[in-house]
Amino acid sequence: MQAKTNDFWVFVETNEDGTAKKVGIELLNPGKTLAQKQNGKLVAVIIGEHTDAAAEEAAAHGADEILVVDAPEFHQYTTDAYTNALYALIEKYGPASMMIGATNNGRDLGPRLACRLKTGLVADCTALDIDEESGNVAWTRPAFGGNLMATILCPDHRPQLGTVRPGVFKKSEPSAPHAQIIREDIRVPASDIRTQVLGLTAYLNSENVDLEGAEIIVSGGRGVGGPEGFAPVQALAEALGGAVGASRAAVDAGWISHAHQVGQTGKTVAPKLYIACGISGAIQHLAGMSGSDVIVAINKDPEAPIFDVADYGVVGDLFEILPLLTAEIQKSRAE
Ligand code: FAD
Repeated sequence: MQAKTNDFWVFVETNEDGTAKKVGIELLNPGKTLAQKQNGKLVAVIIGEHTDAAAEEAAAHGADEILVVDAPEFHQYTTDAYTNALYALIEKYGPASMMIGATNNGRDLGPRLACRLKTGLVADCTALDIDEESGNVAWTRPAFGGNLMATILCPDHRPQLGTVRPGVFKKSEPSAPHAQIIREDIRVPASDIRTQVLGLTAYLNSENVDLEGAEIIVSGGRGVGGPEGFAPVQALAEALGGAVGASRAAVDAGWISHAHQVGQTGKTVAPKLYIACGISGAIQHLAGMSGSDVIVAINKDPEAPIFDVADYGVVGDLFEILPLLTAEIQKSRAE
């Protein structure tokens, strides 16, 4: 497909109540810079039902134009309905590039769309820019088990597509909206939607772990020594009003569920405060948390690589330090 414009699109995924998922709004922030570098508009694309709040939020976070497809068949995500609607929009408007949040749905939608458009898709990007020489989007993502960062271009096909993990970018501050909202009357007949969501069942072992939204995360690694070693980590997280994270080593050992894993094959987080306890700082762990505002590392090995990225480091035994820290925080909260 030929691009008809230089516009940069951001797919703003919606929740079932029609509000925007955080990642779509986050992506408008780098999208603005990329659209400017590409000499195009920043376009937010919203598909869902009762999406006015999502459109308002996109407008307040810098979109120049908002394309809205709003109908009952988009209430819940289905591959067919969303792919058909987005494909129709892309055919009509011909954007140069598009970012999609790497949520479960985004990871389903991106490749499906790329295949139908016969273009490429760079999945799970952690950085983006415009390649000065060719003008293509330079999509950067971890490769070879996270030991290398690969920058990938899609020079011959349009649109250039990529998925980007939640939490990699921060939302811009809201500003006075200037966006033009265009409502597209796209309908997908039920006969074209091959799956039906009959109901939602809570996860077995359900834990509501909102690591991506947490402002404070206290994480434990292999250094906690066993499942019971997460008790002081949990106590500190509770005292701070934060969430509990973990390294893959702790998850693989079965000490805590995968929902808590931070890193390349876990969640990407960017809290205000990240406290790493008994975590060495492998590159795959850093890939998921190095965007945190302040990093504190507690480790008994002064040579541990986590100290290279930490703003504050405590060399010592986490089982001595965490209870002291928790008691101090509880004391100061009580005062
Ligand atoms: P270790 O590296 O064993 O470190 C334990 C640390 O605890 C040590 O530094 C030690 O000094 C310290 N310690 C021990 N006892 C104490 C104590 N009492 N007090 C204080 N400190 C103590 N890892 C992730 O975390 N997330 C990922 O998403 C991820 N994805 C991966 C994807 C691929 C493809 C690959 C190949 C690897 C991935 N890994 C990931 C694994 C990663 O390479 C590391 O193996 C892992 O992060 C190590 O976890 P750790 O730091 O908890 O354990």
